[in-house]
Amino acid sequence: MAQGEYEVECPYCGVNLFIVIGEEGFFSCSDDYALGDVEKSLLRAADPAELEGLAERLHDQALADGQPVVAERLLYLFGQSSCTDCGTGFSVADRVIANAMPTW
Ligand SMILES: [Zn+2]
Repeated sequence: MAQGEYEVECPYCGVNLFIVIGEEGFFSCSDDYALGDVEKSLLRAADPAELEGLAERLHDQALADGQPVVAERLLYLFGQSSCTDCGTGFSVADRVIANAMPTW
């Protein structure tokens, strides 16, 4: 539940990145992190006060449902990441939605 692992493409260089949001942390990396020694780029959480639209509704709903862990993960999903290859920053949610909707 609320464990997120998404495969996205860097909007600049097109490299495949894994976005990991869950018990192992909040980061992106360019290779299969399960293999171990890969470069990780930490995600930057969104400011709850600056959420709007769908992000705000999902975050409010998670808190209303007594799901603070889910609410925190949503802040990372709607936060910022950067490519481990070229350093380009991008919105995590924009890239995830460009590929597939999250399952939670
Ligand atoms: Zn890149």
